[in-house]
Amino acid sequence: MNEASDLYTQALAWLGKEATRPVEARDPVNVPMIRRWCEAIGEENPIYVDAEAAAAQGFPAPVCPPAMLEVWTMARFRHTGRAVEDSIPVLTLFDEAGYTGVVATNIEQEYDRYLLEGDRVSYTAIVDEVSPEKRTGLGIGHFVTIRYEFADQNGAPVGRMLFRVLKFKPKLAQPATAPAALDAPKHPRPAITHDNAHYWEGISRRELLIQKCSSCGHLRHPPGPGCPKCRSLDWVAVKASGRGTLYSFVTVHQPRIPGLQYPLPVLLVELEEGVRLIANGLDLPPEDIAIGMPLRLDWVEVEPGYVLPAFRPDAGEG
Ligand code: ZN
Repeated sequence: MNEASDLYTQALAWLGKEATRPVEARDPVNVPMIRRWCEAIGEENPIYVDAEAAAAQGFPAPVCPPAMLEVWTMARFRHTGRAVEDSIPVLTLFDEAGYTGVVATNIEQEYDRYLLEGDRVSYTAIVDEVSPEKRTGLGIGHFVTIRYEFADQNGAPVGRMLFRVLKFKPKLAQPATAPAALDAPKHPRPAITHDNAHYWEGISRRELLIQKCSSCGHLRHPPGPGCPKCRSLDWVAVKASGRGTLYSFVTVHQPRIPGLQYPLPVLLVELEEGVRLIANGLDLPPEDIAIGMPLRLDWVEVEPGYVLPAFRPDAGEG
C-alpha cells in the first residue's frame, strides 16, 4: 500500500465520527447581533429586528435571518485575528502528510425553523465524506465534507450545514517545480469554484463567457449560481463579442502583489452585451486611459500556458 492510499484509508476511518467537540453558542440569539449582520449584508426585512413587525407575521419575537445559522457558534478570535477553534483531527491528518493547503469550496445549509430571539444554538460536527485524491488547479488533494447539525436549547434540530474543504499540497511544495520558478513570483491565480469553473475554462480556451439565465434571458457577470432577476438556477454560457467601453478604472500603486507590475491600471469594462467585468489593459498607457473609450478584447499569456483576458483601445476598424 503506498503512502497516499494509506493516508486516504486513515481519513476514511473518520467517516461518521465527530469531527470536533460539540460547540455551544456563547450568546443567545439577540437583536443587536442580528442588526449588525443585517446592516453589513444590506438586509432590510423588519421581522429580523422589530418585535412588532415579527408579531405581525405571527412570530413571538424577532426572528433570526436563516443564513445566520452558523454565526452564533462561531469561534472567538485571537488578537492575531485568527479564530480559536478546536483542531479537526481528520484535517490535521492531511496537514501532517503535507497537504497543508486548505480552501473552502462549498457550503450548503438547510433550515428547519426560524431561530428566535433568546434561542441558544449548539452544534455537533460529523465527518461526512472524504474524497479519493483529486488533481485540482491548486494542487493534488482530498475534499473533506463535515456535516454540522444545529440544535436549540431543548436539543431539537434547527438546521444543518455541509461544509466542504479541499486539503491540498500547495504546488510550490511539489517536487515538479523547477528551482528557477521559485525565484520569480507567480502571477496570482483565481480561486476556482463550482460556480466559476466554466468561466475560467472558457478563458483557457480564449473565450470570454457570460452567463445567460435560461428562464428570463438575463445576462450576468461575475459568475454565480442563480439569476439575480428571477432566481432561476438554470443557465447557459454565451460568448462575448469582445467589444466594450471603459466604464471606470483605478490605477493601483499599493499594496503591491508579487508577480504584478505597477502602477497597475485595473479596468472596469462594460461589454456591449451589457455586463461589466474587471480586466487588465493592454497597450494602454496610463495617460491615455479615458472613461467611455472603446475597448476590444485580446489575450495575454502572462505565464506559459496561463492566459488572461485584457482590453486594448479599439481603433474601430470594423
Ligand atoms: Zn432569470
